[in-house]
Amino acid sequence: MAYNKDNVFAQILRGEMPSHPIFEDEKTYAFMDIMPASSGHTLVIPKSEAENIFELSPGYVGAVAKTTKLVAAAIKKALRPSGIIITQLNGPDAGQTVFHYHMHIIPVYSEKPMKVHMNKTENKEALELTAIAIKKRLG
Ligand code: AMP
Repeated sequence: MAYNKDNVFAQILRGEMPSHPIFEDEKTYAFMDIMPASSGHTLVIPKSEAENIFELSPGYVGAVAKTTKLVAAAIKKALRPSGIIITQLNGPDAGQTVFHYHMHIIPVYSEKPMKVHMNKTENKEALELTAIAIKKRLG
């Protein structure tokens, strides 16, 4: 499948669709997942046209990994989860639904079961409050 420039994350990168930003640098952008599996679920994307790991250049793989670590550390400090899942899906059969490469950072809370992935849009105020708490803890 060829990269589709109209995918939702490409639109977010171009500023054509709103998002709740956490962090941005030259090669990456981190923002809140609007249908979070748990409070603090964040996505990290490359500023590069790549659908999946196979299309992403090594420089961007490294940049996404670096941002993922930075943001995961901020989530750990801000939200105190008991664990953090970091995962990335390639292809529809793997469950990928947005075809711009992205890393999921999903905090896990021992006292709260995880929600079913992608079934409910969180309200904007809740997402923004969580984003503010995480941003305060970025190094
Ligand atoms: P995947 O199944 O790995 O392709 O994950 C796609 C993720 O993107 C899901 O967790 C969705 O909740 C999330 N998502 C879809 N649209 C948006 C959006 N406009 N802003 C933020 N997250 C989104």
